[in-house]
Amino acid sequence: MAHKLLIVEDETGIMQFLQQGLEEEGYDITTANNGADGLALAQQNKFDLLLLDWMLPKMTGYELCNAFRETNKTTPIIFLTAKDTVQETIEGLKAGANDYIKKPFNFDELLERIKVQLRNKELPQQLTLGNVSIDLQKHLVTVEGAEVSLTQREFELLAYLVKNKGKVCTRTDIIQDVWDIHFEYDTGVIDVFMNAIRKKLNLKVEEDYIKTVRGVGYIANDN
Ligand code: CA
Repeated sequence: MAHKLLIVEDETGIMQFLQQGLEEEGYDITTANNGADGLALAQQNKFDLLLLDWMLPKMTGYELCNAFRETNKTTPIIFLTAKDTVQETIEGLKAGANDYIKKPFNFDELLERIKVQLRNKELPQQLTLGNVSIDLQKHLVTVEGAEVSLTQREFELLAYLVKNKGKVCTRTDIIQDVWDIHFEYDTGVIDVFMNAIRKKLNLKVEEDYIKTVRGVGYIANDN
């Protein structure tokens, strides 16, 4: 199904350009040319993303964003605006926007930013591995309800393995994706972190959901 986007923009030329470009990319587009109509549409429908101009008649994009966030915390919002001072960017993000793109903008860049937001939105926020639960938003790991305190890197490594549940994660994959290191590197560091994670999770032998694949890497599996 096509993603539903709401565009709120009062400049006709920009609106037509956006609508046409995004429809060609397969998005289902709804438009409003003032803030009040935009807010009403956003509240009455279920959009996958809102694209808001900052300066709008009747209600600014900033006010729209604030009002919308009172009841909806999750729909991604991208501001599209000529305003680009640090202060206004901060204001926009404080009001609950997820991203910000400056006019005049490059369409391909906007498209990529939209894709990033839609992808993030679709990632599950809760992962499980046997009796281990991982809350990606709160960065919380529990085993049968009891909280386990992991360091940032331990958390990222565990979440990475669980996101790839059932697949072997090679040492190279792990070092690139979790450590963000893209050159020859001693991957022994992974074992150190894995040992720490196993110790903290304190799983019983029969609950050993994370297995070492000798010479290759690790696999999380709870089947
Ligand atoms: Ca405007």
